[in-house]
Amino acid sequence: MDRKRTLVIKNPHLRKVRDALRMAIVNATFERQKEIRKKKRRFHPTEVERRIPLANQEQDLDRALRASVCMCPICRSQTSDMIFNPVIKKWYCIKCYEENRKWYRTHPNSTESRYTPNPFP
Ligand SMILES: [Zn+2]
Repeated sequence: MDRKRTLVIKNPHLRKVRDALRMAIVNATFERQKEIRKKKRRFHPTEVERRIPLANQEQDLDRALRASVCMCPICRSQTSDMIFNPVIKKWYCIKCYEENRKWYRTHPNSTESRYTPNPFP
């Protein structure tokens, strides 16, 4: 996806279904991460060749969850309507997106380079 997109559900019954599905996905991901951490603790910290693949799995799950529409990566809301940010390639709740957008508008030289595009268009 390469354009800004907003997902708003107005029907309260559909919102409830959406929120329940998001919660199920987020909880399943957290459970899987918990299992991985438990497995990782079985190995001594010096056994890096066994611990690193598990740490990578855990990070992959975290990265996937943060990029998904299930949870805002800033406030962690699972019940909000979401906006896709095509620059960062992540979904944000409308409140966080608008706050960041306003901030970057009032602080135009806040990115690393002045040629870097506004991360919240
Ligand atoms: Zn948020």
